Amino acid sequence: MRGGGWKSAALAAACAAAAVIVSWSALGQQLDLQVYDFLLRLHPPRTRPAEAVVVAFDEPTLRLYGSMAHLRKPLTGALEALTGAGPKAVAVDIQLADRYDAGQDARLARALEATPNLVLPSNLVESPRLEWEDPRPEFTRKAVLGHVHSDPDPDGVSRQVLLAKAGGGRRRWALALEAYRLAHGVDRIVETEDTLEVGTAVIPASRREARALRIRYLPKGAIERIPVKDLIENRAAADRLRGKVAFLGVTVQGGPDRLMTPYSAGEAMPGVEIHAQLYETLARGEFLRFTGLGPTLGLALVLAAAMTACFHWLAGWRAAAAGFSLLLAAHAAPAAAFRAGWVLPAMPPVITAQFCFLGLGARHYLATRKRLRSAEAQRDRYQQAVHYVTHEMRTPLTAIQGSSELMGRYALSDEKRKEMAGLIHRESRRLARMIEMFLGVERLAAGQLELKREAVPAAEVLAACLDRARPLAERKQIRLRLAESDGNECVWGDREFLEYACYNLVTNAIKYSPAGTEIVAAVERRGDALRVSVQDQGYGMDQHEVKRIFEKFYRTRRAQQSGEAGAGIGLALVEEIVVQHGGSIEVESQVNRGSRFTLVLPRAASGVRV
Ligand code: ADP
Repeated sequence: MRGGGWKSAALAAACAAAAVIVSWSALGQQLDLQVYDFLLRLHPPRTRPAEAVVVAFDEPTLRLYGSMAHLRKPLTGALEALTGAGPKAVAVDIQLADRYDAGQDARLARALEATPNLVLPSNLVESPRLEWEDPRPEFTRKAVLGHVHSDPDPDGVSRQVLLAKAGGGRRRWALALEAYRLAHGVDRIVETEDTLEVGTAVIPASRREARALRIRYLPKGAIERIPVKDLIENRAAADRLRGKVAFLGVTVQGGPDRLMTPYSAGEAMPGVEIHAQLYETLARGEFLRFTGLGPTLGLALVLAAAMTACFHWLAGWRAAAAGFSLLLAAHAAPAAAFRAGWVLPAMPPVITAQFCFLGLGARHYLATRKRLRSAEAQRDRYQQAVHYVTHEMRTPLTAIQGSSELMGRYALSDEKRKEMAGLIHRESRRLARMIEMFLGVERLAAGQLELKREAVPAAEVLAACLDRARPLAERKQIRLRLAESDGNECVWGDREFLEYACYNLVTNAIKYSPAGTEIVAAVERRGDALRVSVQDQGYGMDQHEVKRIFEKFYRTRRAQQSGEAGAGIGLALVEEIVVQHGGSIEVESQVNRGSRFTLVLPRAASGVRV
C-alpha cells in the first residue's frame, strides 16, 4: 500500500469504530427500530383474505350492555351466536379470573363449554409472587389457556411476541399459537433448539431468542372486525365467521389493553387485534428471521474496507461516485435482506458507510486541494525562475549584440576592436557554459549523458572554485579560506560537474552570508569516501526549510528578501550530480548561525592521479 494508504485505512477503522459505537447507543437502536418499522410497512405480506376475525367489544356494544364491568353478558351472547357458524377456533382475550353474577357466570360457563377449539387468556401477575392468573375453573373445563402478553420494545411498540412465556413455575404458549394449533387440529407443539413445529408448520422461534417471533403486521383494515352488538342482534352476521378464527376482545378507544405497533401513527392497537395479527403471521408462514450481529458487523467492515479502496485507488469524481454507490448499497442492504425475510440491523452498516464516506471524502478533498496549491506554488516558482534565467541570458546577449554592432558600423582602432572581440568571446563562452550546464544536468538526470570517470584532486577543484568566487566575496567583504587538506586525495568522477557543484556551494555561501563573515572549505577523508564541505556564518535555515531546498525552484523567504539573484535550481542540480556520482549531500544549518553543506563522494584509489 502507498504511504497514504495506511492513513486512509486507519481513518476508515476509526470511522467504523465510531459508527459501531453510535449504532449501539440509545439513538442508534431507536433509529434501527424506525427503519425496521418502515421496512415492515413497505413490504407487507402477500394479500389474501385474513383467516382471523376480531369480534369486537366496541363502543356501541358497551353502550348497550353497560360498562367494562359487565362484559360477561355480551360475551355469552357472542359465543352463543358464533358457535353455530362453526369457526375453526375461538380465542377470548377478556379477563375471566374473578367471580361475577352467579346466574350469568353459569350461563357463560355453558356457552364456553359448547364452544369447540376454545382458547382462554391467562395472565402473569405479581400478587405478590409471580403467578398465572387463570380464568375461573368452571370456564376452563373444555378450554386451553394461552398467555396474552405482548412484551413491547423499550419504545413501547409491540413488534414481537414470546411464543412461550414462563413464570410461577409454569410455561404457557401464546394465545394466538394455541388458536393456530387448535384450528389446525394439532395435538402437540414440538420444540427444537431453533424452531417450534405445529403439525407441518415450522416456526423460526429459537430458544436463544426466548421463542420470540416478529409479528408481520397486516395493513390497517386487513383483519375484519365484527361488533359483538351486530353478532347478537343479527345472527346472520355470524356466518362471516364460518371457517375463520375468532378473536374476542375489547376494542374501545382509550381502552386499557392497547399498544403501539409499527402501523400505529399515534393510535394504539387493541391487544385482541395484536393476537389476531400474530395468528395471521403464523397462518401465512412468511416469517422474519434475525440475521444476528455477525453479518451486520461483517458488512460494516467490508464497507469500510471498500470505501478505503475507493478513495485510495480512485481520484476525483470517480472516487466520489464509487463511494456514493457504496453508500447507496449500505442503505439498500437492509431492505434487500428484509425482502428475503431477514432482519439485518441497519445502523452499523449505514452509519459506517456514512462516516467513512464523509471522513475519507473530506481527507481526499483536502489532500487534492493541498496538491493543487503546491502545484500552483511550483508553477509560480517556475515562472520566477524562467524570468531569472532569461534575465541572466539577456545580459551577455546584449553585450554581444552591442559590441558586434559597434564593430560592424564603425572603424574602430585595433586595440578597441581586440577589446570588443575579447568581450564577445568571454560573454558567448559564459552563455554557452550556462546552457551546457543546464542541458547537461537535465540529460544526466534523464540517463542520456555518461559521466567521465577519472581521479579528480578534490582540494585542487575546491581551491579553483574559491579563486573564481573571490571577487564576489571581496565585494561583500567575506573571507574565503581552504582548511588544511591533503592535496593528494581524489574523487572518482567527472571534474567539470564536480567543479560546478563545489562552485555552487561556495557562491551560495557568499550570497546568503552577511559582510564580515568567513567561509571555510575543506576536504576530509573518511573511509572510502571524501567529504567536501563548505561552511559559512550566514543566515542559516530552519529544519523545515532545509527539507525543501533541493526542490527545483524553491527559495527560502530569507533568500528572496536578500536581494541576491537566484532561480532555486542550483542545489537541485548539485544533488543530481552527487547522486550520479554514487554519493550524497548533507546539510547542517541553524538560523542566524550559519550552514555547512557536505558532499560525500567516492574516493579514488590512493595514488591514482591522472
Ligand atoms: P538559488 O539560486 O536561490 O541560490 P539554490 O538551489 O542554489 O538556488 O538554493 C536554494 C535555496 O537554498 C536558496 O534560495 C536559499 O534559500 C537556500 N540556501 C542555499 N545555500 C544556502 C546557504 N549557504 N545559506 C542559507 N541558505 C542557503
